Amino acid sequence: KAKEQGRNNYQFYTPLMSAQSALLLKLENALHRALERRELSLYYQPQIKISTGEVTAMEALLRWEVPEVGFISPIKLFSQGQKTDVILQISQWILQTACEQNLAWQELGLPSIPISINLSNREFEQQNLVENVARVLQKTGLDPQWLELEITETILRKNLKSARQVFQDFYNLGVRLALDDFGSGFSSIGYFKLFPFRTVKIHQSFIRDLRGASQEMALISALLTLGKGFNLRVVAEGVETSSQLELLKSLQCEEVQGYVYTRPLKSAEATQFLTKQLSLTFGQNQ
Ligand code: C2E
Ligand code: MG
Ligand code: MG
Ligand code: MG
Repeated sequence: KAKEQGRNNYQFYTPLMSAQSALLLKLENALHRALERRELSLYYQPQIKISTGEVTAMEALLRWEVPEVGFISPIKLFSQGQKTDVILQISQWILQTACEQNLAWQELGLPSIPISINLSNREFEQQNLVENVARVLQKTGLDPQWLELEITETILRKNLKSARQVFQDFYNLGVRLALDDFGSGFSSIGYFKLFPFRTVKIHQSFIRDLRGASQEMALISALLTLGKGFNLRVVAEGVETSSQLELLKSLQCEEVQGYVYTRPLKSAEATQFLTKQLSLTFGQNQ
């Protein structure tokens, strides 16, 4: 069969290649195509200070839209794509695009805020990660303080040995570090002491089940106290309803991210959101 298909297709049909690596090769090709054909885009979701409605940061979230197929979940993309090298090219594109976007907002005269991007496991294990980030910052001209890097506890736990040095280098570079999805894994409080985080994001599973006098309330309350003690910005993720928002307010939670304010937005819509929010909060202060 392979012979009939001609020489170029030979590698797809060799019996030595397992079905799994064939799938991986397919994914790798698809990802290369995605980059070339601009199927990738970044969406942006604001983090908001409840008391004023101010946007305190924007999180960049990858969207991959395949023609005739639709959107492919970034979780899937990053978990399966880890084994391919093209994932690093995609991460590079994300970093660069997010920095350029933040700079574009600053050039429009919007208040400076950090843009946060998620680091994948593969990216975190890259030897020259910090140098690479430094190079992109220099190339784009974005001040390091306006870049925040989100790392999940899972990635941190996998790389505990190397993480100390990586964090120190990032800290010296002047970028912000955020602990993402806190509460989804082992949730070691020791991480706050060991690593120079500026932000901790409470995993959305706690918010989903939020009710008065629940265990989730106690947990979030404890986390908020802890966050204050360590001088961290605490952001509740996945806030969908106004009753969740009210409960969070009652716990003195200051910042949230979630559908209750907006879903992740395309670049132009995110710009509009920032502009509108600015005029609203400006009006409030008059
Ligand atoms: P994450 O970093 O924890 O991002 C938050 C996720 O929650 C996003 O899903 C966002 O769309 C979703 N979300 C926001 N508000 C709400 C809400 O009110 N309710 C619910 N149910 N969900 C909400 P998304 O964009 O599908 O991303 C899923 C995960 O994929 C991210 O979780 C992150 O781990 C990963 N990811 C997404 N974009 C990137 C990226 O550019 N790079 C890397 N390395 N990972 C990414
Ligand atoms: Mg995140
Ligand atoms: Mg998260
Ligand atoms: Mg997540």
